[in-house]
Amino acid sequence: MTAPSALTRAILALGSNLGEREGTLASAVADLVDRPEVRLQNVSPVVTTKAVGGPEGQPDFLNMVIAVDTTLSPRELLAHCQAVELAHHRTREVRWGARTLDVDIVTYGDERSDDPVLTLPHPRAAVRAFVLYPWSLMEPNATLAGESVAALAAKAPDMEGIVHVLDVPPAVVP
Ligand code: AMP
Repeated sequence: MTAPSALTRAILALGSNLGEREGTLASAVADLVDRPEVRLQNVSPVVTTKAVGGPEGQPDFLNMVIAVDTTLSPRELLAHCQAVELAHHRTREVRWGARTLDVDIVTYGDERSDDPVLTLPHPRAAVRAFVLYPWSLMEPNATLAGESVAALAAKAPDMEGIVHVLDVPPAVVP
């Protein structure tokens, strides 16, 4: 794993489909970067996405990604993301069910890991339009494991589930 003192670019994916979703995303971004070890570098637009899998009749998701530069180690960053999730009262009772806030680490530098506690890049990111599409809007030339993020988004099975693109919440513009 990368030395914790190095400054590493990480892409974080945020999703919410319960409660005040837009406000939750804005305050989650603020919480994620509310420490000196995590610096906000870029923010995607927010996309509205049909919930994939899980119980019928779930509200749509709002999804976005952010780029941060961090001195936290991968595990420290995961613990930080999970603490922010918990602070937003995420419920873990139903897998794939409605959730106030979900934060995933999409990439941490070029780190690769098969550890189930922290798999890098995130194992499903390359097929999830709700991660790839906002990421491609934020960084049109981004790549994931050597492939264009925009091209991956275009062929992602859930791309047609993206129904709307919102403006970036003003509170989280870096
Ligand atoms: P989920 O409920 O789908 O958000 O999954 C959360 C679980 O995935 C946690 O137990 C994490 O330890 C694990 N996990 C593995 N890789 C990652 C990752 N890249 N980002 C966030 N959570 C991860």
